[in-house]
Amino acid sequence: MTSIPEAVVSPRGAQRWTGGHPWIFRSDVVRFPDAEAGVVRVYDRARMPLGLALWSPKSEISLRLIERDASATIDAAWWRARLARTIARRRPLEGSASAFRLVHGEGDGLPSLVCDRYDRWLVVQLLSAGIEAYRSEICEALVSITGAEGILARNDPGIREKEGLPRLTELLYGTVPQEVEVNEHGVRYLAAPWTGQKTGAFLDQRENRVRIGAVARGRALDCFSYHGSFAMHLARQADSVIAIDSSAEALVRAGANAQRNGLSNIEFVEANAFDWLRDAERAKERFETIVVDPPAFAKNRASLGNALRGYHEINLRAMRLLSPGGLMFTASCSYHLTKPRFLEMLESAASDSGQRLALRELLGQPLDHPEILSIPETGYLKGAILEAL
Ligand code: SAH
Repeated sequence: MTSIPEAVVSPRGAQRWTGGHPWIFRSDVVRFPDAEAGVVRVYDRARMPLGLALWSPKSEISLRLIERDASATIDAAWWRARLARTIARRRPLEGSASAFRLVHGEGDGLPSLVCDRYDRWLVVQLLSAGIEAYRSEICEALVSITGAEGILARNDPGIREKEGLPRLTELLYGTVPQEVEVNEHGVRYLAAPWTGQKTGAFLDQRENRVRIGAVARGRALDCFSYHGSFAMHLARQADSVIAIDSSAEALVRAGANAQRNGLSNIEFVEANAFDWLRDAERAKERFETIVVDPPAFAKNRASLGNALRGYHEINLRAMRLLSPGGLMFTASCSYHLTKPRFLEMLESAASDSGQRLALRELLGQPLDHPEILSIPETGYLKGAILEAL
């Protein structure tokens, strides 16, 4: 075996890997590597090699499993092979969309690495010191596999600070335009890789938009519309759509996106969705199709209580506006709101709403955002389609 820095972990640390989770915390490391961030070989106390890990000297998450074969060499060829395999899994999406996630970090066995494809350009996030050490190998492999014209690093998330890394947006290769036109099952929209939310758009709801879009009808409502992605899918089937967002800037883009698709049946309203729904209820308005896709109300565990009240209230108000037979798609992207609690919240909102609601479908993350059952952190998006009976 080639000589690389070593770490020794406690039985509890080793147990994390046998249990299918890639993280070993600082408190479970018995001997730390005498090395900068990068790949290290991990041993148990009996000197049994357990595998190779990305080592983050400053983080509470010290070691992230990257390769179970402890004798492997993590070189350019290794990155190319691992990334090629991960990217090949997305092939089924190519026919229907030009933007999707190529690498979903831990979900794809590539911890702390995110890579989203927007047509001919890539946006990456290197979210640990260990992965940052391989930025050039990763970029080279991504260019050779995808033929991308440019790679942008959206390294602005706050978790970079826990790794002792700066927060910045940086061009890593070629050129990346300010706006990229994306095709999502026939709906075209402009993504904003440099400045948009996450890496430029919310790719994780792609298939859910199609799902509710396919059954949309009558008068439709899209709450928390952002750039109008749900609204446009609804507008293809429904008679008319009202799209609500509190951000005027987001609605300008949403309007331009609607125009791009020749959709003239969407009305954009700048408002607080909570207030708007309350007023609509007073005015006895009714909708046949409603989408509620709010931002993450629970940013951490401590805020879960308030967040739950927010989810309950917004869902309750939306439910009350459903006309008989009406359909509602509702979602939460808060990691801290677990699936069971999401369902409980819907049950409680439904019983307060005075409506008889059928749970038609439970939805989650698409193929390109794999949620691994033994790694809860890879899953965050939950959705449901409800029908008013
Ligand atoms: N549904 C969108 C993503 C929504 S992101 C999609 O599929 O792409 C959340 C959006 O909610 C943001 O655009 C933000 O401006 C908006 N927002 C946040 N709080 C709000 C509120 N109280 N009322 C209305 N919009 C709000």
